Amino acid sequence: MSRRKTEADTATGAEGASLSVRFWGVRGSVPAAGSRFEHFGGNTPCVEVRCGQRLFVVDAGTGIIPLGQELALSGPADIDIVLSHLHLDHVGGLPFFKPALLPDRRIRLHCGNLRGESAEEAFGRLFSPPLFPVSLAQLPGRIEHLGFKAGDTLTFADGASAETLLLNHPGGATGYRFSHGGRSLCYISDIEHTDPWPPPELRDFVQGADLVIYDGMFSETEYIRCQGWGHSTWQKGVDLCRASAVERLAVFHLHPQHDDAYLQSEDAKVKAAMPGAFLAREGLVLRFPPKS
Ligand SMILES: [Zn+2]
Ligand SMILES: [Zn+2]
Repeated sequence: MSRRKTEADTATGAEGASLSVRFWGVRGSVPAAGSRFEHFGGNTPCVEVRCGQRLFVVDAGTGIIPLGQELALSGPADIDIVLSHLHLDHVGGLPFFKPALLPDRRIRLHCGNLRGESAEEAFGRLFSPPLFPVSLAQLPGRIEHLGFKAGDTLTFADGASAETLLLNHPGGATGYRFSHGGRSLCYISDIEHTDPWPPPELRDFVQGADLVIYDGMFSETEYIRCQGWGHSTWQKGVDLCRASAVERLAVFHLHPQHDDAYLQSEDAKVKAAMPGAFLAREGLVLRFPPKS
């Protein structure tokens, strides 16, 4: 099945000045492989956000591996990776991120769901023998570990910033809001909805955003038997957007067993419920030119 463009691919002018997003991995929990998963893609979460030229990498699932191949050729010397949390589907691509293998690169890993602690100790356990042959510290690139508390506003040396919010997920997860040129987009994964829905702090956080990327892993039927697992449905994403004056919704963290045929039928239902909503897929690029 071809990666044809949809009406969601709205690349319009002022490319270098835009707020933009590119999806490198949209699959939740584990990668999906095979011909039935080609259209939406099988890599686990990784999203490239550009505020003008300024790069943020959101999450380090297996989608970060092809992104790294591109950044190794043409990326900046300093790369900020902001993590939603440390579950394996969000960090498993990290040791295979090519800039980490280049001695002239510096990679900053930002983690917000450990009450201010960085992820250094956790990564030290995960990426070390016998679980993994080398530690992150042994990679040629310089890796820095930075902790913050979800809810803090992140500020960077070059003046860039990102707002954050603690999400309802086992062990916590961090949601992000990036703004540039009067535009903004939010990354809200992984999250389980609550009752009542949406909570005021989440509604306020995404209010008026140009795009919300939202965890829609389960169908409403699946959710009934998966309560407490920390994930949501696209219907709750639509409800959140309606309550927050958001017109575009990218349903994300797709279930690894939902194949292209199923997801395309869901995509039609999502669009019928909310015209600006769609299922995210690998390779999709969206650009939001600055407001004049
Ligand atoms: Zn996940
Ligand atoms: Zn998770």
